[in-house]
Amino acid sequence: MTAPEVGVLALQGDFREHIRLLRECGVRARTVRLPEDMIGLAGLVLPGGESTTMGRLIEARSLRQPLQDAFAHGMACMATCAGTILAAREIRDGLPQQFTLGLFDIVVRRNAFGRQQESGEVWLEVPAIGSQPILVAFIRAPSIEEVGPTVEVLARHQGQPAAVRQGRNMALTFHPEITGDPRFHQLFLAGL
Ligand code: GLN
Repeated sequence: MTAPEVGVLALQGDFREHIRLLRECGVRARTVRLPEDMIGLAGLVLPGGESTTMGRLIEARSLRQPLQDAFAHGMACMATCAGTILAAREIRDGLPQQFTLGLFDIVVRRNAFGRQQESGEVWLEVPAIGSQPILVAFIRAPSIEEVGPTVEVLARHQGQPAAVRQGRNMALTFHPEITGDPRFHQLFLAGL
């Protein structure tokens, strides 16, 4: 059996870092810009960036329905930061009419930790990826304010859920790809 192939939505944001880390993890990884780029993918990373801009680009390229269809047909999702905002059930402090893919039963608040001065690297304890803490970057991060009953909290930051898993899907409010520790990506890939 060939190894699963994973995509990274590459409209905006830090998709290159995800591609690099996924390849380091030993899987085939490709950028996704068109509906047909998703054919055959076992999983898709929604990267960090700016959720309002990424959302507009998704609409402009008619990717919203194809993304929803692919997820409904079993493509797994790993969402980070702006990607987590796009994939949440509900967005607080979003733009009016900011759409969501509604993949995760979570409510997020944009820019919940203040602005740029609140950004920085943090060591997180995440039992699901091992006993060693992981260094990650919070950059104008959202917070997860509510989680539904089928959502498992993998890690917390300042008391609030910062990493969650729902089935095979994983949503993070921070960036593990910037600091480069592959363990979240490995955990996601192990579920595919
Ligand atoms: N603040 C950004 C947003 O609302 C997310 C920041 C990020 O992805 N690092 O989309």
